[in-house]
Amino acid sequence: MNEAADPKHLTVVGGGLAGALLAILLAQRGWSVEVFEKRGDPRMHGYAGGRSINLALAERGRHALRQAGVDEAVMAKAVMMRGRYVHPLHGEPGLQRYGRDDSEVIWSVSRGELNIALLDAAEAAGARLHFDRGLLRADFDSGLATFGGDGIETMHAFQALIGADGAGSTLRAQMAPHVALNERTDWLDHGYKELEIPPTAAGDFRIEPNALHIWPRGHYMCIALPNDERTFTVTLFMPHAGEYPCFDMIRTADQAQAFFERDFPDALPLIPGLRADYETNPVGMLATLYLDHWRLDGRAVLLGDAAHAMVPFHGQGMNCAFEDCVALADHLDREGSLAEAFAAFEAQRKPDAEAIQRMALENYIEMRDKVDDAGFLLQRQLELALQERHPGRFVPHYAMVSFMRIPYSLALHRSEVQRVILEEATRGIESLDGVDWNAVDTVVLAQLEPL
Ligand SMILES: Cc1cc2nc3c(=O)[nH]c(=O)nc-3n(C[C@H](O)[C@H](O)[C@H](O)COP(=O)(O)OP(=O)(O)OC[C@H]3O[C@@H](n4cnc5c(N)ncnc54)[C@H](O)[C@@H]3O)c2cc1C
Repeated sequence: MNEAADPKHLTVVGGGLAGALLAILLAQRGWSVEVFEKRGDPRMHGYAGGRSINLALAERGRHALRQAGVDEAVMAKAVMMRGRYVHPLHGEPGLQRYGRDDSEVIWSVSRGELNIALLDAAEAAGARLHFDRGLLRADFDSGLATFGGDGIETMHAFQALIGADGAGSTLRAQMAPHVALNERTDWLDHGYKELEIPPTAAGDFRIEPNALHIWPRGHYMCIALPNDERTFTVTLFMPHAGEYPCFDMIRTADQAQAFFERDFPDALPLIPGLRADYETNPVGMLATLYLDHWRLDGRAVLLGDAAHAMVPFHGQGMNCAFEDCVALADHLDREGSLAEAFAAFEAQRKPDAEAIQRMALENYIEMRDKVDDAGFLLQRQLELALQERHPGRFVPHYAMVSFMRIPYSLALHRSEVQRVILEEATRGIESLDGVDWNAVDTVVLAQLEPL
């Protein structure tokens, strides 16, 4: 049968995290799926990298992996992160738990290993994968897409293209003349650079493994996520330009060494390769991408970073992209036509993507500037106390985003209500002893419905 004429045939552009997961979900539901990936097969040539080396996986992402039947394989290599291990410039470092106990944690996973596990499962489910095939052009009228790689161009007839080709999406650019996407990219004036903490000589982790480490320094910070081979990937986030410190002023190994001696003295001995890593590894750019539309009737739809790239400070870009995949697969099952499914998908997911994009921007300020602040810590204590007093009604912001699957837009709305309650209840006091519990309980009961 001519594949493009098969009503159950879909073509996925991009075999990264979202593209590979979507291919599994669709193939399991009886769709005939082809995936075209610009890069080589990571199972043959090694993972080519790209964005961060490891990522934080939370409940939304895990739920999607469970749907696809790959959660167990992925979790076998994941490292638990119980909370933020904060390293102030002065004072004792310590763990701030994310949740109540070990049932409320996030997980560090390797991007390369995760991608490979998803590609294996996609192929096992029946999806056909084509590597070294990057989308070059799409002719939506004739239903023909042109892919290139290794100097060869090939044509592929499609019924619909699904864009999982990341923040720099070619499919998005091809859709732009046909639909008013109104694309806006807000570049963050901060970038990032990755460094490594190797294992000890005995092969152990050098610092507490079950945590996401943060060295908050006001306008900039380092974080470190553990890897299952007992290393940590450190990411330095800092402004590109402006006052010291910034990437423009810290370019050489000597400058990096002096900067770490001044600002991250406890991290410096953990990163023996600092000088080489700093000079070799590029400075990554970070941005939030906004679109008015994600689809071209029933012929194309975007998801994941191609539709709504976000800054990484809530560790939710992949988790959100995975949620997109489940939502799209469900709509494709439910709706009568591709156009209806794509429209329903966009209507459901766009407000949620915009909510997590906003929360991700806000979380940068929290991570780099507030986690070692006494007022902030008092509000976190109150948050936990109110969760105990009003279970299911007062749920901390981090828990709504990372341990639950309520829509991001609802999490944002409730977080804003809760933030005002926390600020007002802690104003002018230094410990929870000063809290007027009757007054706070009354406000919580009046303003927050049970979830
Ligand atoms: C520093 C950093 C840290 C992050 N940390 C986290 C975290 O802790 N937790 C989290 O949830 N998220 C995190 N993210 C976000 C996460 O990386 C992205 O949201 C996620 O990768 C999106 O998946 P995707 O499949 O949409 O896009 P991508 O992962 O970018 O995949 C796109 C794929 O499409 C391919 N491609 C590109 N162009 C074409 C083309 N023309 N034709 C065919 N194929 C093409 C690419 O090669 C790639 O394989 C982080 C991001 C950064 C930058």
